[in-house]
Formats: sequence, structure tokens, C-alpha cells
Amino acid sequence: MSSDTNNSCCEGIIDLVVFEQNVPKCPICGETGKLVKNITVKHLVNKEVMDSINNLDFAICMNEKCDTVYFSLNEHVLIDKSQVREPIWFKKDADPKYACYCSKITFDQVKEAVSQIGDKDMKKVISLTGAMKNCQCEINNPLGMCCHEIIQQAMDEVEF
Ligand SMILES: [Zn+2]
Repeated sequence: MSSDTNNSCCEGIIDLVVFEQNVPKCPICGETGKLVKNITVKHLVNKEVMDSINNLDFAICMNEKCDTVYFSLNEHVLIDKSQVREPIWFKKDADPKYACYCSKITFDQVKEAVSQIGDKDMKKVISLTGAMKNCQCEINNPLGMCCHEIIQQAMDEVEF
């Protein structure tokens, strides 16, 4: 069987992981964030805070309990849950909890598909749910990462 990475819809996205050691901690909760591209932040924030994004570099707070979503690496710009257009799937009380932001497929839909198929088969789940169609994860996904990994997370939550 071929590796799951073959299913990734975003081969072109530059992996930012290499810079992670330089990512500062969330100014609110103190947890280490993940770098997110400026273009991703710009697409995810509300109009009201759009102007404060400028060309700043941002990171996202990965702490599920922290209300801060994006924080700038300098200039102290903070974007919280109420200032983004989509619920952040790994934050507490995300509703709906999207696994694929491009096709608006939720964790529940992925899990339902797995139960229906009776197997954690990524290709079948994608075709049954319609996930990963017309992917533009770089601007739709809050981390700018391919939703493939999140769909995998949702599948992993299913217990037979
Ligand atoms: Zn935080």
C-alpha cells in the first residue's frame, strides 16, 4: 500500500518546521507557538483587525485552552478566537470542528465515514466525504498546513 503522504493535496507548501526553534512563546499562556505565513493570517482574520496584520510575521498558539490564536513575533499584535473567521479545530469548544477547511468537512463527518467504511482508509474517506477538493490550505487552514494531516487525526479518533 502506498504511503499516506501521496494523498497530500499541498505538496507545494513550504514546510516551516525548520524554523520552529526560533518561535517565541504565546504572550498570554506561555506555550510555544507554530509559525504561520502572513498570507494565511490575512485570510483568516476578521475585517476589523485586517489592518493590524500588515506584513508582520505571526505564530499560532497551539494551547487548546488559550483564547489567543495568532500573535506577532514583534509589535505585540494579538488575534483572539473572536477575531478569526473560522473556529480553530484544536481550540476548546471549536464549533464546527473542521478537519478540512477547504471543503468544510468536519471531524464528525470524517469519523462517520470511517464507521461507514469500517476501515481507516484515507482514500475512501476522502472520496466519501468530498474532503480535499479544490484545496487551498495555505489560505483556508488556520495553520496554512495541508488538511490531510488533520483528516488523519480525525480518523485516528475512531475506535472500533
Ligand atoms: Zn496561548
